[in-house]
Amino acid sequence: MTEKAHKGVLVYAEHNKGIIHKVSYELLGKGRELAEKLGAPLYAIILGPKDIDIKELIYRGADKVFYIEDDVFNKPEEMLYKINLVEAIKDIKPEICLIGATTFGRSLAPRVASALGTGLTADCTELEIDDSDKLIQIRPAFSDNILAHIHTVTYPQMATIRYKEFFEAKRDINREGEIVKKQGIIPETRLVEILEEIKGDGIDITEAEVVVAGGRGIKTPEDLKLLKELADLLGGMIGASRDLVDQGYISSDYQVGYSGHRVKPKLYIACGISGAPQHLAGMRDSELIIAINTDPSAPIFNIADYGIVGDLYEVVPMFIEKLKRQ
Ligand code: FAD
Repeated sequence: MTEKAHKGVLVYAEHNKGIIHKVSYELLGKGRELAEKLGAPLYAIILGPKDIDIKELIYRGADKVFYIEDDVFNKPEEMLYKINLVEAIKDIKPEICLIGATTFGRSLAPRVASALGTGLTADCTELEIDDSDKLIQIRPAFSDNILAHIHTVTYPQMATIRYKEFFEAKRDINREGEIVKKQGIIPETRLVEILEEIKGDGIDITEAEVVVAGGRGIKTPEDLKLLKELADLLGGMIGASRDLVDQGYISSDYQVGYSGHRVKPKLYIACGISGAPQHLAGMRDSELIIAINTDPSAPIFNIADYGIVGDLYEVVPMFIEKLKRQ
């Protein structure tokens, strides 16, 4: 989308079980300043449970608040928030989008920026509008030795802002604004439910005797249930490449590799994992390695005892069937 198609400053208002986080008021304070310089509206968006004090965002400076109301937003679930925020931003088309650099904001913002195909400047400490109406995002760099001034050319211009850098917006209960309720996108099977189903009954992956691990070849979080079924039949647990963890499909408790866990099970089944050195660092000492991959040149086959060139969505169900028949 071009610059002209975007207008306004959008603040993502974070909350904790319905209580609005103070960083949201700080962003509204700064957002108001930027919006006034650009002669543009200030928006806020909140994804939250029923009965959030939405008017507070108007008292703190928002001209319009987009409220995606559903009790599922009581829990901070990145994938669910991401889907909803991305669709809302596509609809609202703001020029600037600000997210607090809280633990959740730091995890959410890159997922949203990546899905929108736009840049993200993380951990900003100042934001300015220059003489040609460009947003300048300022953040410390090189161990805080310099302040980098960054101007992104993709829209919306997205930034995460450190908490307690800006003053909270002043509260004015006479301010008026519009509240627009938007319908949430709530997938039928939610990630939290899937994770509940696939979790390994408290077993530590480093102790598992069988690990059935999935990589980027896994298309949706729900498909992890297929690996879980196989792992259960073999008395093991599931594992994952970092790629699946980064995508938010599964927690880092299951990550195998250099920056994850080092495992040495009796059997390691790698499904849709290419075999990057960082992954191999965590599992190459497994007693028996079976790799399933559609690409015959995947490096995982170099260390596998048995390699199956094929689609995991066909091969894994065949394994399951065979084991069930035994
Ligand atoms: P990809 O490399 O994208 O491979 C996906 C594979 O799936 C491909 O080979 C493809 O042919 C196959 N495939 C696709 N569809 C199917 C299908 N339907 N059926 C069968 N096969 C299919 N990675 C880790 O895993 N663990 C770590 O701890 C880790 N630490 C890292 C630390 C650092 C500092 C860095 C820089 C990287 C680290 N990485 C780690 C990332 C690592 O470099 C790779 O990016 C990652 O392992 C790739 O994951 P993947 O194999 O799932 O994805």
